[in-house]
Amino acid sequence: MIEVRELTKRFGRTVAVDGLTFHVKPGRVTGFLGPNGAGKSTTMRVVLGLDRPASGEALVSGRRYDRIRHPMREVGALLDAGAVQGGRTPLAHLSWMARANRIGRDRVVSVIEQVGLAGVARKRIAGFSLGMRQRLGIAAALLGDPAVLLLDEPVNGLDPDGVRWIRDLLRGLAAEGRTVLLSSHLMSEMELTADHLVIIGRGRLIADTPMRELTAVR
Ligand code: ADP
Ligand code: ADP
Repeated sequence: MIEVRELTKRFGRTVAVDGLTFHVKPGRVTGFLGPNGAGKSTTMRVVLGLDRPASGEALVSGRRYDRIRHPMREVGALLDAGAVQGGRTPLAHLSWMARANRIGRDRVVSVIEQVGLAGVARKRIAGFSLGMRQRLGIAAALLGDPAVLLLDEPVNGLDPDGVRWIRDLLRGLAAEGRTVLLSSHLMSEMELTADHLVIIGRGRLIADTPMRELTAVR
């Protein structure tokens, strides 16, 4: 469960998030939709303790992120898949993350398989396509077997197979009872993936609605 309450965040004179309130419930995929610059990434960064709000709060499983004892086991996140650092191969990268977070080595092997990177686990990340980096970023997010997942535009740069793969993965994770928040600026990406939509514009809530309310009657 993610709770965002009256959250406001400014950068100088820019109000990136403006009194935003919504909850993200477990057991479904919640789409976080809004045009570029709407405040989606900023909201996620505050949830993840990477930015400090001016006012309001963001809680994960009832606590601020910086007060969670084992954050990676509680919350997994994919923010900027292009920016994977810390290891030269998927195996080295994920093993390093697992060690730093006291996560068992068995999880490293299992997430590499889960995201379909087993064949390139010992290949250099430097030569990876954006799609492969997305998979690696998702593997890192899943490493701690977290109850809550935040993914910022995970579909960017993926081919149709990759898009289908992410959709099936996220739907499966939600079906296991996890909380999944997925941002995108494209409604078309949400239609087949999200059960629920939180729509924002200029940092403000526009709609918080079940997906079925927005799909055409056929
Ligand atoms: P989205 O993820 O919906 O595209 P962002 O949260 O990235 O939106 O951006 C919201 C607004 O905040 C935009 O106007 C953006 O330019 C501004 N912004 C985001 N991060 C920074 C930053 N580090 N410094 C200054 N302005 C920022
Ligand atoms: P309290 O103990 O009353 O919550 P704090 O002394 O922790 O108050 O101060 C709140 C400060 O924590 C604010 O300046 C805010 O910017 C910062 N902060 C960082 N992350 C969060 C969050 N997720 N929710 C609320 N405040 C946060």
